[in-house]
Amino acid sequence: MKLTELLNIENLNKQGIIHLLSLRDEFETKLLFAKADKVRKKYCGDEVHLRGIIEFSNHCDQHCLYCGLRLHNKNLPRYRMSKDEILNTARFIYKAGIRTIVLQSGEDSLYDCSEIESIIKEIKNELNVAITLSLGERSFEEYKIWKDAGADRYLLKHETANPKLYSIYHQGDDLENRLVHLRYLKSIGYQIGSGNIIGLPKQTLEDIADDLMLLKKLDVDMASISPFIPSPQTPYGNETKANVDLTLKGMATARIVLKDVHIPATTALGTLDEIGREKGLKVGANIIMPNYTPNPYRQNYQIYPDKKCISDDPLACGSCLTLMIELLGRQVGKTKGHSLKKVLA
Ligand code: SF4
Repeated sequence: MKLTELLNIENLNKQGIIHLLSLRDEFETKLLFAKADKVRKKYCGDEVHLRGIIEFSNHCDQHCLYCGLRLHNKNLPRYRMSKDEILNTARFIYKAGIRTIVLQSGEDSLYDCSEIESIIKEIKNELNVAITLSLGERSFEEYKIWKDAGADRYLLKHETANPKLYSIYHQGDDLENRLVHLRYLKSIGYQIGSGNIIGLPKQTLEDIADDLMLLKKLDVDMASISPFIPSPQTPYGNETKANVDLTLKGMATARIVLKDVHIPATTALGTLDEIGREKGLKVGANIIMPNYTPNPYRQNYQIYPDKKCISDDPLACGSCLTLMIELLGRQVGKTKGHSLKKVLA
């Protein structure tokens, strides 16, 4: 089948997805990217939504082989931001005009349920924002309490749809358990985000195709297709970093397959390639997630090293990103940028 015909198929099957991910010819790759950009325009318009991240704790009870926050990394200085520090950062993000606040941490069981509940309530009482939680796997009871407190979205990446690789990367954990959590989150009303990591060791194109098909099956509201960057203090510290081109093809194919979802141009992509986020926005992405974690903490949220903008003052983020977005002929979204499947804003 010709590429132009393949790009017009409404529901691509696995072989079709693998074909798109495998494109080598420059002209054909441009056709893929152009199609993804067209689909993005149709379903998301030209707005780029900003999500302000507060990485409030870098403690983690888990041992994911690729992540610098893993429990066994004893060289990383650990921190927990206080409630007041989190609230002040949330106010700062709001003043910058951003209407989604992402509360992110490792799987930190010592940051207890009621403390997070009260942070969610205070932010929602004071600021007209959406809240995304990205706290890893927690108990169903906790998810429900936080939802009732006002949280809108939960981001829990599946990382890989290959159960064997999932078990390797997560030291024996079960992919099905992660999927049970995602389905539960959706069932109680969260807008859910999930996603994979492109370029992890032992991953094949077939695995990436399965990732995209799984995201469709889960009916996610947000899909993050981000590149692997080896972190020196981990078992994968000497592995090869992801290929930027393959990451872009993954994002473009995700846009074509998933259509009405939010797709971020990730900070990891901007770390691998100086203009990675701009490239991502041209191949289907419609979200940027600037990091507002204050000093001195921001240096120590090291999932991977040399994170883009890590030494920049968060004060400068808004104007820098606005310029980037406007130079691409797009606009910064002014709303909360809720799920495209049910616009609630
Ligand atoms: S990926 Fe998440 S759960 Fe795994 S070690 Fe890193 S912070 Fe912890």
